[in-house]
Amino acid sequence: MLAAFIREVRDEFPNFRIVSKKGDRLSRVIDVALRVVTLGRMRDYLTHYHTVIGDTLYVPESWDETDEVDRVITLRHERVHLRQRRRYTLPLMALIYLVPLFPIGLAYGRARIEWEAYEETLRATLELKGPAAARNPALKREIVRRFTSADYGYMWPFESQVSSWYDQALRSIASPTRGVSE
Ligand SMILES: [Zn+2]
Repeated sequence: MLAAFIREVRDEFPNFRIVSKKGDRLSRVIDVALRVVTLGRMRDYLTHYHTVIGDTLYVPESWDETDEVDRVITLRHERVHLRQRRRYTLPLMALIYLVPLFPIGLAYGRARIEWEAYEETLRATLELKGPAAARNPALKREIVRRFTSADYGYMWPFESQVSSWYDQALRSIASPTRGVSE
């Protein structure tokens, strides 16, 4: 299942590759930069985050031991970022994503980019793990936290708004009568 999905991503993005952050120099540089920018609050870049840069997905050390279905769900999220990068081109994508780091706290462009990808996370969870998994409050807590916490530089710290985006997305994904765009 995982191998087949990776092939599917490569059909669309022939240069797609997966690189472990461990021992990767670029990842180390980014890690240090993020620690500086967030005054040390962002400490998990190497160990917890999946990051797409260009056609490369940088994965944390735990990747190989992660459940296959969870890896496919992550890849579906990251494929959205690959498509966004193609849509916006890399410089514009980097601009939308990175510039609002200053000031930290209100990064609407980044929030929208991540939101689109997290909708796919929800859709993939529903399809691959079923409705109970998609409705699991722990998943919602985790995703909402990503928007409102230091994880992504407090990119959109309005918990009630993120929460209602989430509920709305879940409703539209779960309801087959409402067209959901890919
Ligand atoms: Zn993302």
